[in-house]
Parts: sequence; structure tokens; C-alpha cells
Amino acid sequence: MKIAVVGGGVVGLTTAGFVQAGYFHNADITVLASDFDNTVSHVAAGIFRVGASFCGPSEAITRHWIKDSYEFYDALRKMNDASRAGVTAISGYIFANSSPNVVKNHWLEDVVPVYRRANEEELKLVNGTWKYGSYFSTLLTQSTLYLPWARQRLHANGITFKQRDVNSLKELIDDYDIIINCTGLGARQLCNDRRLVSLRGQVLKVKAPWMKMFFYGELDTYVIPGFNGVVTLGGSRSFDSENMNVCPYESAAIRERCETLVPSLKNAKISRQEVGLRPHREGGVRVGEGSRISNHSEAIIVHNYGHGGYGVCMAPGTARAAVDSAVQLYKSTSSKI
Ligand SMILES: Cc1cc2nc3c(=O)[nH]c(=O)nc-3n(C[C@H](O)[C@H](O)[C@H](O)COP(=O)(O)OP(=O)(O)OC[C@H]3O[C@@H](n4cnc5c(N)ncnc54)[C@H](O)[C@@H]3O)c2cc1C
Repeated sequence: MKIAVVGGGVVGLTTAGFVQAGYFHNADITVLASDFDNTVSHVAAGIFRVGASFCGPSEAITRHWIKDSYEFYDALRKMNDASRAGVTAISGYIFANSSPNVVKNHWLEDVVPVYRRANEEELKLVNGTWKYGSYFSTLLTQSTLYLPWARQRLHANGITFKQRDVNSLKELIDDYDIIINCTGLGARQLCNDRRLVSLRGQVLKVKAPWMKMFFYGELDTYVIPGFNGVVTLGGSRSFDSENMNVCPYESAAIRERCETLVPSLKNAKISRQEVGLRPHREGGVRVGEGSRISNHSEAIIVHNYGHGGYGVCMAPGTARAAVDSAVQLYKSTSSKI
């Protein structure tokens, strides 16, 4: 049996891991991608914080995915080489003035070890006069470490990697029995999916090794420490923008908002400025929905794309669901042959 996972970002690599770990462990698995090194996954801060806008097909399924995802990364965090995999525990605060709802998180509150209201003292931890705040602890997966680590592990376990532009999923059906589509924004063209839109984001990566906690303020302001003293300052969300150039006005605004929130960042040197196009899908992420395509040959096609701003944290839960869907479809259709 031959299986292709199309997409070499966090969703593709995590899905390939689930393909190999389960029912299809004896299959010949290939990960195909037009690019393995410059994906939107590389830009993410990688914090495990699922926003209110994230949704799967139902509340129960979404909660299941979130729990599976958290447990997956928490297991990596407990491994000896967790730092090589780029996974660590992290805690911090979210502050707001506009509404108490902003500092709540109905997806996370039951999943992370601590999610509680900030007390009066804590509301003064950063600059500004804040009315509402929450403290929570969660996980961080730094993709610049996780992606090469995952790739190396998959390769060591026999998975093949091929750089290839796929113009149509149908072009793969002569060569593969199962195709799992993890192409992020690329699925817009491959699936003619008009619900998929680009949600452009820009961040600054600065050196600030003294920052140990994350802080979220209003207007998409965030300060998220990663590995090796590198801190992500954000951010921005521009729907339908596909401009990959760094906007100097946006960088200046991000820097000013973050420095206003955490004044010690004035001493932080910028190491990089980055732009990424989040694969946002109206109506929710597309997971599963397998189909069996018949042309000259037959193949099962299953999707896993459209994670928007939450693809790093949600990759494991949706990967497991996509692979389960492929297994079910394979079992049901092969029993009829
Ligand atoms: C500024 C910013 C901050 C973020 N912060 C976070 C965060 O803190 N936490 C979080 O969970 N998420 C965050 N995200 C979101 C996260 O980065 C994305 O949801 C996630 O990376 C999507 O992963 P993906 O694998 O679906 O897509 P991608 O990383 O884009 O990978 C898609 C892959 O498919 C391949 N591909 C596409 N089309 C084709 C084709 N036709 N043929 C062959 N290959 C193809 C590409 O080459 C690539 O390898 C952030 C995003 C941005 C921009």
C-alpha cells in the first residue's frame, strides 16, 4: 500500500506521524511538498491557545481534537529530547479593557492545568490600566525546532520526502492508494475551496532572554517567549492580504504596542521580521470527508487543512481524526472489493 501526505508544514508532518503510528504502519509513506523550509508553520510562535473562532464540525468533536492535541504535545514535553522537539511548558497573562469575554477561553479552560482570573496585583504586572485579566499555563511548540525534529524522526522510521508541486490531487491517484491533503492555503487551488482565505500575519522576533512569561494585550498585541531567548512580538491579522513583504509601518506599530505593554522590550534587538499567510477557512477546518476517486485507478482522498491561526496547536488532534477517517474509508471500501 502506498500513501502520500501532501504538505510539509506542521499539519503534514504531524499527520504523517499518525499515519505511520497506526493502522497503516506497514505502508510505504511519502510526504510531498512544494516547500519544506519556508512555510507559514515556520513563522508561528507556536503557543497552545485555541481562539474562540476555531471550530470543527461540532463542539464535542472540537473539544476532542483540542484534548488530543494537548495530550500529544504534553507527552513530547515529558520526553528527554523535548527541547530538541521545541516543546516546553509556558505560562502568562492575557489582559483586556473592552470586555471580560476577551480574557476567557471556553476551549482551553478545561484542558490546560491552570486557567484563572488574575488578581488586582497581577493586573499591574504590565504597563497600562487593565480591568480584566487571566493567568494560564499551557504549552509552546516552536516550529523552527519541531519541524526539523519531526522530519528527522519520520525519515529515520522510513518515510520518504519529495519536493514536488502538485497541480491536482488526481495526478497522484495512479501512484498512491491513499492521499491525505495537508496543503494549508494551497488547498484553495487544489480543492477549488473558496471558503479558504489568507489571513496575513506579521511578527518580529527579538532577543530578550529575560522574558519568561507570555503577555497578551488588546489589539492583537502579544509577547511570547520561545527557545534560546528569542521572543515573538505580534501581531496583525489582515484578511485577504497575500503580501509577503514585511510592512515597516506594521513592524513599528507592533514594536510600539509591545513596548508599551512590556517596557523592558525597548532593550531587545530585532533578529528577524516575518510574514505568514494563515490558512483561514470560513465555517471551520476541513478534516476527513474522505472520497474515493476513480479514474483509471482508484484512490482514497482525505483532507486536513484550514487551521487558520491555530494550526500548530491543533495539528495533532486533526491529524488523528484525518487518519481515522482514512482507515474507516479504506476498511469500508476494501471490504466491498
Ligand atoms: C504570525 C503568525 C503567528 C502564528 N502563531 C501561531 C501560534 O502561536 N499557534 C498556532 O497554533 N498557530 C499559529 N499560527 C498559525 C499556524 O502557523 C498555521 O495554522 C499552520 O502553520 C498551518 O499549517 P499547515 O501545515 O496547514 O500549512 P503550511 O505551514 O502552510 O504548510 C503547507 C504545506 O503544503 C505545501 N503545499 C501547498 N500547496 C501545495 C501544492 N500544490 N503542491 C505541493 N505542496 C503544496 C506547502 O509547500 C507546505 O509544505 C500563526 C501564524 C502566523 C502567520
